[in-house]
Amino acid sequence: MTITYDEFKALGLSIDMTRGKPAPEQLDLSLSLIEDAPQAGYLTRDGIDCRNYGHVLGLPQARELGAQCLGVPAQQVVAGGNSSLELMHDTLAFAMLHGLPQAEPWRRADEVAVLCPVPGYDRHFAICEALGIRMIAVPMNEDGPDMAHVEALVASDPAIKGMWCTPLYSNPTGAIYSCETVRRLARMPAAAADFRLLWDDAYRFHHLTDQRIESHDILAACAEAGHVDRAFVFASTSKVTFAGGGVAWLASSAANIAWWQRHMSVRTIGPDKLNQLRHVRYLRDRTTLESLMDRHRAILQPKFELLDATLHAWLGDQPGVSWTKPQGGYFVSLYTPDGYAKRTVELAAQAGVVLTGAGAAFPYGIDPRDRHVRIAPSCPSLPEIERAGQAIALSLRRALGEAARGKAA
Ligand code: PLP
Repeated sequence: MTITYDEFKALGLSIDMTRGKPAPEQLDLSLSLIEDAPQAGYLTRDGIDCRNYGHVLGLPQARELGAQCLGVPAQQVVAGGNSSLELMHDTLAFAMLHGLPQAEPWRRADEVAVLCPVPGYDRHFAICEALGIRMIAVPMNEDGPDMAHVEALVASDPAIKGMWCTPLYSNPTGAIYSCETVRRLARMPAAAADFRLLWDDAYRFHHLTDQRIESHDILAACAEAGHVDRAFVFASTSKVTFAGGGVAWLASSAANIAWWQRHMSVRTIGPDKLNQLRHVRYLRDRTTLESLMDRHRAILQPKFELLDATLHAWLGDQPGVSWTKPQGGYFVSLYTPDGYAKRTVELAAQAGVVLTGAGAAFPYGIDPRDRHVRIAPSCPSLPEIERAGQAIALSLRRALGEAARGKAA
């Protein structure tokens, strides 16, 4: 180690690693969405005038593109606005206010709870908190949630109405749900007849290696298991085209889509079809989308490699410290010895590297072991990532040193 924490702090860095945002070079890959907007025009293949109201489930062509990308029939796909998180929020809000098909509104139940594999995505948890849904943490393994735990809870507690799942390159651990996990989720008996899997396939195309791992077809697995309405699938082009101006998709059973249409028609007369048309024209099909994702990978992979190498160089000898090396997605999870995550994040912020708050990947912001740190290496430049990795390592070492000194005193 050639630099101390204090020397590092004196460098006066300012690096933001709080969110998994695409880097500007990634956004530039899809610049022609803006540049070619005049050519995209406003009329679709079928003569739909995208400037006007209507098509609450999205442009037929945008639904077809979603169907191809998600591997489901187009009539089971909704093309929405720019955010899949918005679709997740509305699904839960509609369930709460109006109830799912053939079920009572959740608000009439004494209690509504949702299972949250942890570490997980903080914004999923924020939706639950905002809607008064109790969160029950369940442990996450490398191949998905601890299924024995999940099955026991879901079978016995009718208050459990749903479960968050990020099946591929999970945020933030990079976990990949195995076939067996998916089959068990589809098959497991649920005490609540209106139990739903909130299947957030945000990283479906976001590989970091040359292996394009496929998400499992949860809708087919549920249908096969006799639970045809069990899953809502969400995805978007936020990290394919523009995080602030992409297209989001929801896919589900025919009954769930009809239910969605009924409630969505009250909320809006239709989505931004002009943006959908531009996306259809630009992305064309799954093959084109996948080759665009290869270009994203070429930008992202070196950043993840460099972070990993830096952590190895600066923390490799530290007992009780580990981190993930994800095969896709946008995050690295760093595990400190118990009790050091908060202090590490605090010290890193003082050294100019802002990370997601410690505990954010847990319901109510509480990491019971205070050991998880989420690192988002996508947006900073390579030199910044190296600096950030060093800052995190020095901060963790400083935190461990403080504790050792405290014990000795
Ligand atoms: N779901 C997960 C797991 C994410 O990590 C993110 C963004 O980081 C989102 C959803 C947000 O998706 P969108 O931009 O489509 O709202």
